[in-house]
Amino acid sequence: MASKIGEMLHLRGNELNAGDPVALPLTQSSMYHLPGAPDGLPTYGRVDNPTWQHLEHVLSHLEDAPCLTFPSGMGAISAALFAILKARSRLLIPSDGYYVTRLLADRFLSGLGVSVTERPTTAFFEGGFEGFDVVFLESPSNPGLDLMDLPAIAAAVRAAGGITIADNTTMTPLGQRPLDMGIDVVVASDTKAMGGHSDLLMGHVASRNAQIMERVEEWRKVSGAIPGPHEAWLLHRGLETLDVRFDRMCSSAQVLAERLAEHSAVKNIRYPGLPGDPSHALAKAQTARFGFLLSITLESETKAETFINACPMLRPATSFGGVHSSAERRARWGDDVDPAFIRLSIGCEPVEELWQAIEASLNAL
Ligand SMILES: *Cc1c(COP(=O)(O)O)cnc(C)c1O
Repeated sequence: MASKIGEMLHLRGNELNAGDPVALPLTQSSMYHLPGAPDGLPTYGRVDNPTWQHLEHVLSHLEDAPCLTFPSGMGAISAALFAILKARSRLLIPSDGYYVTRLLADRFLSGLGVSVTERPTTAFFEGGFEGFDVVFLESPSNPGLDLMDLPAIAAAVRAAGGITIADNTTMTPLGQRPLDMGIDVVVASDTKAMGGHSDLLMGHVASRNAQIMERVEEWRKVSGAIPGPHEAWLLHRGLETLDVRFDRMCSSAQVLAERLAEHSAVKNIRYPGLPGDPSHALAKAQTARFGFLLSITLESETKAETFINACPMLRPATSFGGVHSSAERRARWGDDVDPAFIRLSIGCEPVEELWQAIEASLNAL
């Protein structure tokens, strides 16, 4: 896959005419000049925008599937679910994945007559998939970093007549390729590593199922959940360095995980790249990299807060995937984790500088 990144960087360049700008122009316009019949021309800013269209061309190259962008990850997840579900549909979602997806199901989809069932990631297979119209997956789960057997679940759901949607936010298409494992639809928050600079919110839906993509596009047009051209431009710019950033972040996460595992202040650590981690075998089988997220549990909530707030190379912030390493106690949002559980997102700082800062802050506890 990584070999297609060079091709991705030149997708625009190889189509240019003499005198065209090499960088992607930002088209900030709601209207198009449309004298006479508008056939085949861009019509209106809710339907067409050349900046998103080029971004989607690049994303489709990365996903190896048609792609549509949305103004946030939740915008993309909502689009996929609203495009596929109907009243009386049965939806299965993880009980320990990204909590806003559960809120969407609980607060809105249930009210429209969708029946929602939750199961923990590590027991997702239990009970089978018979009777479910849509099975929503997240692997690795955020924040627990448990994995699901994606090819096995994709095959079982397909055999039972359902559709699978996988949230691939934490891995990006460079780290994991759910569509190649038989998943029908990928959704992702591009707010995280894809954008990578903590300065935008975006999301996308990718699928090789043309009927689903048609519905998703119609949903975008009709609901008005369109990305802003400036955000699309920023995401396009971020994608140009995704390969370099993701490589650095995953390599650093591995180094730090191995050292953190040995530190006496760390009571528990989860990183799929550690051979003893419960996710290691599945991660080896289905991901290209072990990711840039890891979690540590310290002795107490107070120590966890002191560590996060005192370390000069960790931004105490929610969200992840940026060039700056960040950390937070997930219990503060109500995730079902230990109060001293910290999710760490490893950024692009040189790893030795980062380790020195982390180690010094742990030693000072
Ligand atoms: C952040 C996140 C989302 C939501 O994305 P937004 O861009 O914040 O709307 C969805 N799924 C996962 C796994 C996430 O981490």
